[in-house]
Amino acid sequence: MTTMTQLVCASANPDKVAEMSGLLAGIVDLLPRPPEVPDVVEDADTLIGNARLKAVAIVDATALPAVADDTGLEVAALAGGPGVRTGRYAGEGCSYADNRRKMLAELDGVADRRAAFKTVALVRWPDGRELAVEGICAGMIATAEHGDGGFGYDSIFVPSEGGGATFSQLDAAAKHAISHRGRAFRSLLEALSSLQA
Ligand code: IMP
Repeated sequence: MTTMTQLVCASANPDKVAEMSGLLAGIVDLLPRPPEVPDVVEDADTLIGNARLKAVAIVDATALPAVADDTGLEVAALAGGPGVRTGRYAGEGCSYADNRRKMLAELDGVADRRAAFKTVALVRWPDGRELAVEGICAGMIATAEHGDGGFGYDSIFVPSEGGGATFSQLDAAAKHAISHRGRAFRSLLEALSSLQA
């Protein structure tokens, strides 16, 4: 019998934890983030830098390997922004809805609506070893919200491979099959299994 790799989840965001749990189910034993660990200030200027900050905080607190992810939305008409500022695009403490409203307002009347989600998934071990991979999903920013599922920018992001639906209009399995996070975590699992081979 093979034992499952145990990783402490560095994310406290329930929407992301739900997706990560689904993507790693049956392969990684994902331990919950200890609630006593304070929130990490995500002030790195790259996705990998922020993922590392989150993972290191958990490794330092638990002495166990941790998995973290960090995601950015890169919009062509916004010169690749908001990127690392995707979560706080409409300001510190803003809601998902505030971010979507700001994005739709900024792109009002803009013809070039190309965008891409990027996720860096990173595992960090207590001895300082690290594994990091990236997943990308290209698409467009819609002109209005469509669908009720998902979180974040899902209702305004139309992935190129989604048949014209927004992420919100796809079920979890269909989103995972083409999403930035699905791609990143599948690559992470491959890299983890080749380390163990
Ligand atoms: P984080 O830095 O990985 O927490 O992601 C930053 C922000 O990107 C989140 O607060 C969400 O607004 C957005 N985001 C991340 N992943 C997704 C997704 O899969 N769909 C829609 N929005 C997302």
